[in-house]
Amino acid sequence: MLRPGARSASLALYVHWPFCVSKCPYCDFNSHVRARVDQAAWRAALLADLAHEAAQLPGRTLGSIFFGGGTPSLMPPETVAAVIAAAERHWGFAEDIEITLEANPSSVEAARFADLAAAGVNRVSLGLQALDDEALRFLGRAHDLGEGLAALDVAQRVFARVSLDLIYARPGQDEAGWTAELDRAIGFGTDHLSLYQLVIEPGTRFETLVRQGALTPLDDDAAAGLFALTRARAAAAGLPAYEISNHARPGAESRHNLTYWRYGDYGGIGPGAHGRRGGAATLRHRKPENWLEAVQAQGHGIAAETPLAPHDRAVEALLMGLRLAEGVDVARIAATTGLPPSSWLDDAALERLERLGLVESLLTSAPAQAGGHDGYSPFKVGAPHGLPPARGHGYRERGPFPARIRATEAGFPLLDALLRELVRP
Ligand code: SF4
Repeated sequence: MLRPGARSASLALYVHWPFCVSKCPYCDFNSHVRARVDQAAWRAALLADLAHEAAQLPGRTLGSIFFGGGTPSLMPPETVAAVIAAAERHWGFAEDIEITLEANPSSVEAARFADLAAAGVNRVSLGLQALDDEALRFLGRAHDLGEGLAALDVAQRVFARVSLDLIYARPGQDEAGWTAELDRAIGFGTDHLSLYQLVIEPGTRFETLVRQGALTPLDDDAAAGLFALTRARAAAAGLPAYEISNHARPGAESRHNLTYWRYGDYGGIGPGAHGRRGGAATLRHRKPENWLEAVQAQGHGIAAETPLAPHDRAVEALLMGLRLAEGVDVARIAATTGLPPSSWLDDAALERLERLGLVESLLTSAPAQAGGHDGYSPFKVGAPHGLPPARGHGYRERGPFPARIRATEAGFPLLDALLRELVRP
């Protein structure tokens, strides 16, 4: 079971599969539609990219693998199995390794779930996205609700752990409609929900429609109301938000994504995959054909490998960590970068935001061994299990930097603005 603040030296591996059957109008991911994929060439290239990554990261144990995309449920299960087996040969697996695959809930893909489980996948993240056929059509999804629910049923029978993705704050969506949809999703009994607000991203079909006046996004106040409702309702059902968009039963958090948010090391292979390892950022070629050619020519798909200055690492860790309900371990960032918090965290802004009740400070980092996630609720009054009390309610006296800071319930909806103020460039 994961503990807030628990540190693991184990490594995470991200594998990007860039192909989809169609492009969703809201999607700005590195996803592509291709009439034909040379499966043998792609499998060989993924294995080569993986071997290169393993050579850069010797002596580590793998704690998680995440197949993302794109639509990795379109991968041949034999390719998934080959990547998992090679990763185990290269690194060895932690006893409780988490192996997640993102899946779209079409009947074609559901038919592969048993083979994917046999390949070693033990957690699936199912892109249901909405529980309403009209909304699914609006989102450009290739499945309808009946197909989606049938796939969920198969997933829950086949995989040890299932997460659902839903997109809310859709145009015209009101609190009553979203409450009913969310309650129904909670009722499916999965131990993890990823609940994303619809964001109009640059370069997407939805952005074009908004520019043309053909689509009106939900206004900010209504979206903020749905955000608050989501957090309260999911928490009341035993699925508190452990990250701004992710909810889980205690102990069922995505370990892989926690590695990103806690700024642990991860390797990334496949087109456009990012990695952070040994103080450097890696980026693979984004376009599928360019990545494939690069691997075939040079043995790996890396387009750029950039050492990160200690200040850059501190800022990245702060930006990632404040997304978490447990907050960010200021003392650990200072220790790992060798930089005092004053060089990357604006103390005056921190004090101001504490006084406004948007951020709170803790005296010490969460212990790595003591405490557990059971009963952990960073927003209830008093100290979360295993943590000392925050200094006062709402703000601390100006003084040494706290060991840990976190956004409050009032602060989370304003997280982007808080981060802009807190980061000292
Ligand atoms: S299925 Fe997912 S990755 Fe593919 S286009 Fe749709 S949202 Fe993007």
